[in-house]
Amino acid sequence: MRPDNPPPPVYPFQYREQPRSGNEINGLNDPARKRATPVFHSTGRGGGRQPLAWEALDNFFNLVASPACMWQVVRTLWQRRGYAGPVADTQVTVDDPAVMSEQVKAKALELGAGLAGVSVIDDDALYDGYPAPPYRYAISLGIPMDREEMLHVPQQRAAVEVMRTYRRAGRIAIELAAWIRSLGWPAQAYADGEDVLQIPMALKAGLGQLGKHGSMISKKFGSNFRLAAVMTDLPLALDAPVDIGVDDLCLNCQRCTKDCPPDAILDTKQLVRGVEKWYVDFDRCIPYFSMTEGCGICIEVCPWSEPGRGPRLSEKLLAKRSS
Ligand code: SF4
Ligand code: SF4
Repeated sequence: MRPDNPPPPVYPFQYREQPRSGNEINGLNDPARKRATPVFHSTGRGGGRQPLAWEALDNFFNLVASPACMWQVVRTLWQRRGYAGPVADTQVTVDDPAVMSEQVKAKALELGAGLAGVSVIDDDALYDGYPAPPYRYAISLGIPMDREEMLHVPQQRAAVEVMRTYRRAGRIAIELAAWIRSLGWPAQAYADGEDVLQIPMALKAGLGQLGKHGSMISKKFGSNFRLAAVMTDLPLALDAPVDIGVDDLCLNCQRCTKDCPPDAILDTKQLVRGVEKWYVDFDRCIPYFSMTEGCGICIEVCPWSEPGRGPRLSEKLLAKRSS
């Protein structure tokens, strides 16, 4: 698909004094391995609660959201009261963490997730100065979005579907966490708005790979999905990162770079906090993202997001390597 007449990058919101570059805060060109610093969205529950550098733009983003979007957001906020809860007194013994992992992932799919995988929580998932979740494992969940609705990016209809998916993701995480607690093990939902980095956990849990557009790409849904997680101490076997051939295609494809209205997508990998990876220019993307209720053009034009195409694409790309 091609986006349907996306608005030009001409902004109703302008900073009188430009804040510190989000790229600098994100650690672009910084060779040191370190935790990320929040720039834009955050609950502010981290130590010290300083205003975020780009908080005014985040406020603008919320202010211009349509009532249909806000209705989804309000419902998501309301359901957050169910993220944690009491643990059953009797604890189920886990003899084989691998078997338990399979059961947990099957339960996640039964509850409506499209993807599920397990990793340990480490520094890559945590913001600098923010408390670490008091759990050992993260169960990452990928929740597919309705592709028909998402083809309307960057219009309101797609934005509503994004918010609806976050609400669904929260509901699934809540139900999975409650199920684990019913086995006598602590568990908590970490869905929309919680202060953890979902993408690094999902990459380690094997849900997909990072694409040039800075979002995850999975074999099954391309980038047409959103993330949530459940943190727990239930003994689980870990999944491993996957290689489905994302880099092979991104190195030769420029679809998202060409279709991004503010030219935010960099064509080569960058050094970000000590790691070479695909990176999106924050200072260019976020003003457009905020003006368009979350944009999303890059994830929908990506060939991987075309329904049913991922498995064949992956097979072809991996076969090409060995030929
Ligand atoms: S549109 Fe092309 S370059 Fe961009 S993330 Fe998808 S495959 Fe990679
Ligand atoms: S979400 Fe950001 S990077 Fe993606 S197309 Fe929109 S402005 Fe560009």
